[in-house]
Amino acid sequence: MSMMALILRRKILSKPYISHQSSLYSTTPEIKSLNSQRIEKILIANRGEIACRIITTAKRLGIRTVAVYSDADRDSLHVKSADEAFRIGPPPARLSYLNSSAIIDVANKSGAQAIHPGYGFLSESADFAQLCENENLLFIGPPASAIRDMGDKSASKRIMGAAGVPLVPGYHGDEQDIDFMKLEADKIGYPILIKPTHGGGGKGMRIVQSPNEFADSFLGAQREAAASFGISTILLEKYITKPRHIEVQIFGDKQGNIIHLYERDCSVQRRHQKIIEEAPAPNVSSDFRSHLGQAAVSAAKAVNYHSAGTVEFIVDTQSGQFHFMEMNTRLQVEHPVTEMIVGQDLVEWQIRVANGEPLPLTQSEVPFSGHAFEARIYAENVPKGFLPATGVLHHYCPVTATSAVRVETGVEEGDTVSMHYDPMIAKLVVWGQDRLSALIKMKDCLSKFQVAGLPTNIDFIIKLASHRAFQNGEVETHFIERYKDDLFIDGSNPISAEKAESAAKHAASIVAACICQNELARLKDKAPGGLHLWYGNPPFRINHFAKRTVDLEWENQYSISGSNLLTVSITYLPDGKYLVETGESNSPGLEIQVTQLSNNDYRVEVDGLSLNVCLAAYSKDQIEHIHIWHGDSQHQFKQRMGLEIYDDEETIDKPARVATSYPSGTVIAPMAGLVVKVLVKDGEKVQEGQPVLVLEAMKMEHVVKAPANGYVSGLEIKVGQSVQDGVKLFALKD
Ligand code: ADP
Repeated sequence: MSMMALILRRKILSKPYISHQSSLYSTTPEIKSLNSQRIEKILIANRGEIACRIITTAKRLGIRTVAVYSDADRDSLHVKSADEAFRIGPPPARLSYLNSSAIIDVANKSGAQAIHPGYGFLSESADFAQLCENENLLFIGPPASAIRDMGDKSASKRIMGAAGVPLVPGYHGDEQDIDFMKLEADKIGYPILIKPTHGGGGKGMRIVQSPNEFADSFLGAQREAAASFGISTILLEKYITKPRHIEVQIFGDKQGNIIHLYERDCSVQRRHQKIIEEAPAPNVSSDFRSHLGQAAVSAAKAVNYHSAGTVEFIVDTQSGQFHFMEMNTRLQVEHPVTEMIVGQDLVEWQIRVANGEPLPLTQSEVPFSGHAFEARIYAENVPKGFLPATGVLHHYCPVTATSAVRVETGVEEGDTVSMHYDPMIAKLVVWGQDRLSALIKMKDCLSKFQVAGLPTNIDFIIKLASHRAFQNGEVETHFIERYKDDLFIDGSNPISAEKAESAAKHAASIVAACICQNELARLKDKAPGGLHLWYGNPPFRINHFAKRTVDLEWENQYSISGSNLLTVSITYLPDGKYLVETGESNSPGLEIQVTQLSNNDYRVEVDGLSLNVCLAAYSKDQIEHIHIWHGDSQHQFKQRMGLEIYDDEETIDKPARVATSYPSGTVIAPMAGLVVKVLVKDGEKVQEGQPVLVLEAMKMEHVVKAPANGYVSGLEIKVGQSVQDGVKLFALKD
């Protein structure tokens, strides 16, 4: 880890929690110190940022922490941050983070009195909550009965309906006969949505536009539900065509008090998963807010809830009505936006409630101030449909935390984002007096959030947050699809493509000048007994100017078409500046002066503009990768090092290597992952679009389909095998 990252990490870990609160909420009652000290040691049954997040609060409360880890996480931040850490198994989650008995064993061995499950993994397992109870361990979460009631979407809807919480019109009963369900669907009216009753992550859901599509979708949803969740029951709902996803944070104690802490808008999603969340929801009236809050409290009361929970609603933007969708019986990923507007630490509340203390605030005492956003920074390939990415964080320098900026992360520079777990790198959380100031702050922080080594969605989130409709708060769940032409530059929009290319050329010019400056500094250091004339700064001989070219391949993040080769020519001028040309017709070139400030940081003067520039370089597969952050933009380039990448020497033990190019008809892996299904045999005839194999990585499945009609050839990949991104899977022959 670099020194800078180390300093930054210390700052993040030691920062006072939500400190803007103390100045803003002078009326907030002081929370009493833990009265009984029943919990002195907590085991955190999780990993990554949420484990680190829980450890931060526990440390502040003087509670010792026990981490658990799989072999893939032996050196990870959550392990280093905890007081003690125990190995619980190999990398696959089902053998480690989902292994209840191994976790309970560690709790007993370490003397922890309580278990915090975080989110994901065992957090919504009623059996695990029950097991904790049986073992006399406090489960820092709701009662097992509430988890069970809410885990079944149909049952939860029936309970909510009985409690008077508004529901989306639909069928939530036990009868699953296809003809009966079809009649129910006809009654609801199309389009309808089919959902697995025990689903999650948007898996298995199907939109049915008309009655003749019903049977196929119904049977497909049943099969997928059985395969993914082990239970094939499904429910039917009216499909709302322009919805918003608004959820309410609720909190209950063991004394029966239940309050809400306002709502979050999580409408902007890709693959049914959230990317940007905010609190409060934009463009809603205070009447609507208060009705929503009351409905959420009624929902929680209906299941005798305690601890943190979230009641999710779907809001029909056409009718303005909200309907109960589901209740998540855990702390949500996006809980920090609520913390920022109410100035409370919800993990602290969870611990206190588990300890038997009453809620520290009544409903009317809950503060509400300003606006907060959370941006989820993922390792993912945006142009490939947001597919998860894997790789090493060669350079990782998040923004500095302040009282209004939080960085929740579980990784450090040098760590690997593996295919075993969620590809989230960090959550950036910002607070502002109002929505616009929070938004401006978020965009600024994102542009300074430095990650290099693997593709991320940072640039995409900046584009999203800069979109006029997002700025106006016109959010809805199809936002990305609706504005895809603005959010992705795919060459079909010549004006923005041209603008992007010209910005890339400008960035390439700066990169080239910085490379030259860096080289000179290195040569100066190495030169024995002074510098060769050519290596002087500037490398200059009377009547000669030194000139060179640098080939940079621009990695166009938004475009599936990939990269563009830019040849930058640099003339070393006698005054130490560089004249940089990128072959732009009618451009005289740029005069650039560079001062190197530290290893990665430069001060650059270009065309009368003085800029701070950060450059991160690393080599992978004999290619030098260079990232530049300057002003409010960032670019990535590749510089070839003149070596061949692929050798076809086959070695059985080595994992399949990634080649740079394959003959046409070759189908390559779109992401790194585990092969979970191979659906056809080598040599078999397939139709265009027919699923051939299924890859799984980071909680998602990706079906690899035949791109054309033909015969599958060279399909040697087997179930259980891991493949790298870009590796050959099979070929299609006529
Ligand atoms: P899961 O538990 O699989 O995530 P949810 O019921 O939470 O499923 O729904 C996930 C997402 O699907 C929601 O955030 C919303 O975008 C969309 N969705 C759910 N129900 C409906 C509906 N009735 N109409 C339209 N969109 C819906």
